[in-house]
Amino acid sequence: MRYVVSYEDGENKTKNATPTPARALELMASNRGAVVMDREFGEAYDLAMHALGKMVPKEPDYQYDGYDPEGHEAWEARCPTCGCELEDEGICPQCGQAIFWRDNEIW
Ligand SMILES: [Zn+2]
Repeated sequence: MRYVVSYEDGENKTKNATPTPARALELMASNRGAVVMDREFGEAYDLAMHALGKMVPKEPDYQYDGYDPEGHEAWEARCPTCGCELEDEGICPQCGQAIFWRDNEIW
C-alpha cells in the first residue's frame, strides 16, 4: 500500500508532495496514537522516527571551555543528540545527527 501525503509548506500549498524529513517526522509523531500497531510494529515505527530525527538538522550545543591561550573565552561545539565534540562536520561522526551551523559558527 502506498500513502501519498498532502501538506502545506509555508507559502506554497503543495499537493501530493513527498514530505521533507522534518514534516514526515511531525506527521509520524502526531499520528503515533492513531495508527493501530502491534508491539514489533510500534518499535519499528519509533525506530523510523528516531532515524528520521537525525536527518533534520539541529544546531550544536555550546559548552564553555575556559579561556584559550590568548585569553579569549573558548567554547566547544557538541552534538545535540549524543554530546560528542564537533569541529565543522555537517553530520555528527558518532551518531549521524545532521548539524546546522550558522554562517559565522564554523569552527
Ligand atoms: Zn552525535
